[in-house]
Amino acid sequence: MKILVINCGSSSVKYQLIDMSNEDLLAQGLVERVGIDGSILTQKVKGRDKYIVQVPMKDHKEAISHALNALVDKTNGVIKSMDEISAVGHRVVHGGEKYSQSVLVNDEVMDYLEECVKLAPLHNRPNIIGIEACKALMPRIPMAVVFDTAFHGTMPKRAYLYPLPYELYEKHGIRKYGFHGTSHKYVSQKVAQVMGKNIEDINIISCHIGNGASITAIKGGKSIDTSMGFTPLDGVAMGTRSGSIDPAIIMYLVKELGYTIDEVSEILNKKSGVLGITSISSDLRDIKEAAYNNENEIAKLALDIFSYKIKTQIGAYAAALGGVDVIVFTAGIGENSFETRIDILEGLEYMGVHLNKERNKVMGEIALISTDDSKVKVYVIPTNEELMIAKETRDLLH
Ligand code: AMP
Repeated sequence: MKILVINCGSSSVKYQLIDMSNEDLLAQGLVERVGIDGSILTQKVKGRDKYIVQVPMKDHKEAISHALNALVDKTNGVIKSMDEISAVGHRVVHGGEKYSQSVLVNDEVMDYLEECVKLAPLHNRPNIIGIEACKALMPRIPMAVVFDTAFHGTMPKRAYLYPLPYELYEKHGIRKYGFHGTSHKYVSQKVAQVMGKNIEDINIISCHIGNGASITAIKGGKSIDTSMGFTPLDGVAMGTRSGSIDPAIIMYLVKELGYTIDEVSEILNKKSGVLGITSISSDLRDIKEAAYNNENEIAKLALDIFSYKIKTQIGAYAAALGGVDVIVFTAGIGENSFETRIDILEGLEYMGVHLNKERNKVMGEIALISTDDSKVKVYVIPTNEELMIAKETRDLLH
């Protein structure tokens, strides 16, 4: 069974074709600049040169059509015809309160996705456009949606309810939803498998640290709390996002400093985080370069703040879980930045966290990085959201 995984952004389409008989990645592709000048499709297949298509692609439907052509292309493709695709799994960011599981696409689901657009306009709208495009291009192929929020559907009310007037929750759905759920679910299941443990028996703190970052407390395989909230702006500091701040700062910026609410949104989403502190970059590699090689003090401070926020979140979740068995690092920074992992875990020895500095030098591969006698095990587990989406899609078909 071959499953196509689609992830539509506002001007991009990422896709992977996965053979579920052995979980082999047959092809992966990225279409960029959809709807703008210079559209480009790049498809990678193991052991082959990149296949690049540069033609105007005015919308997502055209982009997906070119992706399908690339997959069946006589010389550069990996399948003979589209009939070999058994199903399509779509990544959708926000599933609201209704969906705490993946679902097969039908009219009712599409109507609900429309309702959820207001909760995540930047993400859900392109996700819907992608599904509609696939429905038009592959009308007979079953499709599933896999939500970033779904894994956090198990959070108890005390974790997801804000101490705000209750009617804001009841009437308007204002609550914590959490994000990166597909990634947290994948790495938590994978780490249990690698440890040879039953996931029911362990407490996990999963640290997804990439451009966006979120920390999740997982008990018995279920999310019980997570650092992102009503939107992916909440929680720890990120590349360009502020994470949690005193909400009164927003009123101050508007009332005292004269910013419009759109400007505040731009500041908090795009001009904060390590970029905001340093004015250097949102990419942690650039910040590390400035801090370690150029002795840039503000870059050092940004790294310090970045790690400190994650450290204190780990502490909070150790309390929420009533003890932790394993801490997992994943995503671009979590998998690759060993210096950041050291900074985050330094000082947590009292909790029984002991990092093995040699093992910790690993980048981007599954590894135990704590010492043999560390009470809390620490692992690097590369995330694979696409494979998780493909598995969920397959399970729904069965
Ligand atoms: P992601 O959002 O998971 O794709 O992660 C992307 C981010 O990972 C980039 O913006 C980089 O900041 C970060 N990254 C990748 N490799 C490294 C590294 N070796 N050290 C620090 N950060 C890294």
